[in-house]
Amino acid sequence: MFKALRNSPNIIFVRLLLLALASCSLNGFLAGQDKMPRFRVVALAEHGGIHKPFVDAAKVWLGKLASENNFTVDYIEDTQKIDDAFLAQYNLFIQLNYPPYNWTDTSQAAFIKYIEEGKGGWIGFHHATLLGEFDGFPMWTWFHRFMGGVRFKNYIATFVTGTVMVEDKSHPAMKGIASPFRIEKEEWYTYDTTPRPNVHVLASVDENTYTPSTDQKMGDHPVIWTNKHCKARNIYIFMGHHPELFENQAFTLLFRNSIFWAAGRQENREK
Ligand SMILES: [Zn+2]
Repeated sequence: MFKALRNSPNIIFVRLLLLALASCSLNGFLAGQDKMPRFRVVALAEHGGIHKPFVDAAKVWLGKLASENNFTVDYIEDTQKIDDAFLAQYNLFIQLNYPPYNWTDTSQAAFIKYIEEGKGGWIGFHHATLLGEFDGFPMWTWFHRFMGGVRFKNYIATFVTGTVMVEDKSHPAMKGIASPFRIEKEEWYTYDTTPRPNVHVLASVDENTYTPSTDQKMGDHPVIWTNKHCKARNIYIFMGHHPELFENQAFTLLFRNSIFWAAGRQENREK
């Protein structure tokens, strides 16, 4: 009976199956080797407060993008850990709504070096232009220059919808983004001056499209820009108040493009 079964089709099938399983686990092992992170991101995320829902939504969205593209994101909620050695671990620094004040002296010095010497890229959202004297802190003059010399003046507390015009469609961060695009119910900050003479403007909001209309306007109103005077690939994106931004295709494409551009990596398109 045993002998008769030896070369039966059933046994051959079982052997092939075992071979296939062995090869699968070998592939799995090799794939595991590929899973070494391609790059590392640190996000300085605002802790609590009115922007918590945006930060929480960003974490979910970043987690998915990171797993699809083999990169890692570590979060910090203050600047205590930031020094040269800490930043040296990361290819990209995301300022997730954290303002440019209440940073330790060591973190400021390390950040300046990181940006000026191009040790990594930077993406800053919304609160990153909260420049002025806030909560008893003086304005960080280096950061003021980094953001093109703008000082925060006011904001539209009632939230209005506006149309954003892409000004440099050839910039990698703006790739594939339809122009104009709408941003719903945004808080639109105004500044004492336009950053335009000091930065490369990628997009600006057309204040005439504000719905409902408001008198809270500044004229030339850039909302996305990059400072070419720094070695680091950097981009400031004004939007970043509401979690609903992660349902806006233009916004998520902009964030995604900015990550791969600023980190100097290609997106993994074989998904
Ligand atoms: Zn806000």
